[in-house]
Amino acid sequence: MKLIICLSFCIIFFTVSSAKAEPQPIISTLKDYKASVKLNDKNEMINLKQIIPDIIFDLKYSTTNNFTKRKLYKSATTTYLGKDAAAALLLIHEYLKNMGLGFKIFDAYRPYSVTKLMWAIIHDKRYVANPVNGSGHNKGIAVDITLVNLTTAKELNMGTAFDNFTDTAHHSFTKNLSPEIIANRVLLKSTMEKFGFKSLETEWWHYSWKSNEIYDVMDINFKILNKRINYYF
Ligand SMILES: [Zn+2]
Repeated sequence: MKLIICLSFCIIFFTVSSAKAEPQPIISTLKDYKASVKLNDKNEMINLKQIIPDIIFDLKYSTTNNFTKRKLYKSATTTYLGKDAAAALLLIHEYLKNMGLGFKIFDAYRPYSVTKLMWAIIHDKRYVANPVNGSGHNKGIAVDITLVNLTTAKELNMGTAFDNFTDTAHHSFTKNLSPEIIANRVLLKSTMEKFGFKSLETEWWHYSWKSNEIYDVMDINFKILNKRINYYF
């Protein structure tokens, strides 16, 4: 009897373990994207320029001014986030305006194949997600962001540039940073958290949408997304 119970337990345990290890399917065709959105409309990628027309972009990966020195996005005059994260960003935009502040986006949705390329180059999971399970950027729930002064259009001093892969970019790093820099980082973090995003210890600019929802991993390029019409807003 004991043996039967043990065997049953082992079968259940291994079934659950192997189910957990199963990587998520990659949505890589327009047909699959449409099916994904039909199944769960939270997977829809929202054009940020469309919902926040005065948004400021500095999309580093659509230029060669990034750590790979390669232009990774061919057609990126805007960028995308999944429906939940995009709606929250719109609220943050309005909230910051009242303080004379705005935000600048360095990156948001990132096709899965670009994450794979980044991983091949840097291979350090503190800074680039291991592509095995797809990253928050691939799911449209992560955004790389900073604050700007709306009057001067200048970025608030955060102490390092975007994609600075050193300890100085960590939230816990305060040594030699001025009170102004620390206050700016705290303001960005507290604002993002107030609207439902969570921070990443190693990158002051990276925030991801906090949710128990399972979002699909996307490898749909910007050209295809740019042709899509958003129905949500
Ligand atoms: Zn990021």
